[in-house]
Amino acid sequence: MKAEEAWNAAYHQLELQFDRASFDTWLRRTSFLGYDEGVFVIGVQNGYVLDMLQHRLYRNVRRVLSDVWGDEVELRFEICKEEPVRAPSLEDRPLFRFMAQQENDSSASPLHHLLRSPEQNALPDSDLNPHFTFERFIMNESNRMVYEAACAVAQHPATVYNPFLVYGGVGLGKTHILQSIAHVCSSRGLRTIYVSSEAFTNDLIHAIRNRTTAMFREKYRAVDVLLVDDIQFIGGKDTTQEEFFHTFNTLVNFNKQIVLASDRHPRELATLEDRLRSRFQGGLVADIQPPELETRIAILEMWAGERGIQLGYHVIEMMAQRAARNIRDLHGVFNQVVAQAQTTGRQSLTRHQAEDTLERYTRPMDHLTLHSVAEATAAHFGLKVQDLIGPRRSGKINTARQIAMFLARELTDASLPQIGDFFGGRSHTTVLHGCNKVSEEIEFDPILSTLVEKIRHRIAPGV
Ligand code: ADP
Ligand code: MG
Repeated sequence: MKAEEAWNAAYHQLELQFDRASFDTWLRRTSFLGYDEGVFVIGVQNGYVLDMLQHRLYRNVRRVLSDVWGDEVELRFEICKEEPVRAPSLEDRPLFRFMAQQENDSSASPLHHLLRSPEQNALPDSDLNPHFTFERFIMNESNRMVYEAACAVAQHPATVYNPFLVYGGVGLGKTHILQSIAHVCSSRGLRTIYVSSEAFTNDLIHAIRNRTTAMFREKYRAVDVLLVDDIQFIGGKDTTQEEFFHTFNTLVNFNKQIVLASDRHPRELATLEDRLRSRFQGGLVADIQPPELETRIAILEMWAGERGIQLGYHVIEMMAQRAARNIRDLHGVFNQVVAQAQTTGRQSLTRHQAEDTLERYTRPMDHLTLHSVAEATAAHFGLKVQDLIGPRRSGKINTARQIAMFLARELTDASLPQIGDFFGGRSHTTVLHGCNKVSEEIEFDPILSTLVEKIRHRIAPGV
């Protein structure tokens, strides 16, 4: 038997032995790199997995592999940035998986090529967006303090500001800043975890259910830098707050860096436990303000340059004026104009054409009801409105429901609780979660973005 086959056989045996969460965390993304005189060299995706395999799980893995190989073996682990073929992380994202199926049915849209940049074909080993880097973050008065503090934290983790908490409204660059820090730290070999507080909660629930809380703690407490996004969502979740409190203390005691993002100042997070609130305020709390016109213009120029699209200064200025609230809106406006340029086969657009596009995009739609949004979305997926407002959560229904909620929020005046009520009495946090998920994945995922555009068009032709 060849060494690689032996590793593959051992890998599958380990998969049966371990519970799903532990296997996913520690072994799923390992890969065979080589064999040399009784030593198997195995690639792992980062330092903390390496630590875990080398120290805690070594004997277990070695025993299984030795049995398969028929002789005592040793293992050496090496960090290997390349994604092993058998674990395509992109496909693991539920929305993506579903969209990929959809995509097989329809012809590729030209929007695709324009919106997909080369790196997106290979997502990196973690959940970091390769575009969220300091180099691509435009600094100005609205975000200077956050930017400078973030650079300092990335350069000197656990020495300058700990914890470092960024807060501000939606679409102002909090996630971008957190991930920029994460990129720098992990590229310097620091054990870095970036998670949303929801992912942290889900991971915890999973661990409790599978009795792997020890491993859960190992994972989160053995890092050099822990970044938790959208921390406001742990409010009201007692078990998560308790666990996070201990994680927080352990890390700070061991002089590890914690970075947090929240949509509000911690003192305004009403359902946050006081002991966490005071911890969160114990380091630097910095806010991000909505971007100035100049910042928005600079960001648009950067995006246009990256996509190789020529937009005259007047067009850019007009777009920047339209989307004043935040940068996510700006992105929406930009995509709209770019899509327009693409469908008409132009690489440049006059101010008049751009205005026309945006006019249609932003026209108020008083006549649109939640029902009409749900109806059009359901129809697109071959479902009924009843499916979307019912309790079922199967993949397709859930995806369709999240997209419908996202569009409802964008196209109607309904509030989050009203949307939640309509879609089967769901809470406003469920709605927010769904909307955020769609809007975040749209950025990574041109297939999803095209699909949402198609449904939007169906709901309101001409938009
Ligand atoms: P938040 O987490 O605050 O809701 P994000 O970090 O997701 O916002 O930012 C929304 C979008 O705006 C992302 O595409 C991000 O790259 C972009 N963005 C935000 N701030 C900046 C900035 N200062 N420079 C460049 N792009 C930015
Ligand atoms: Mg965010």
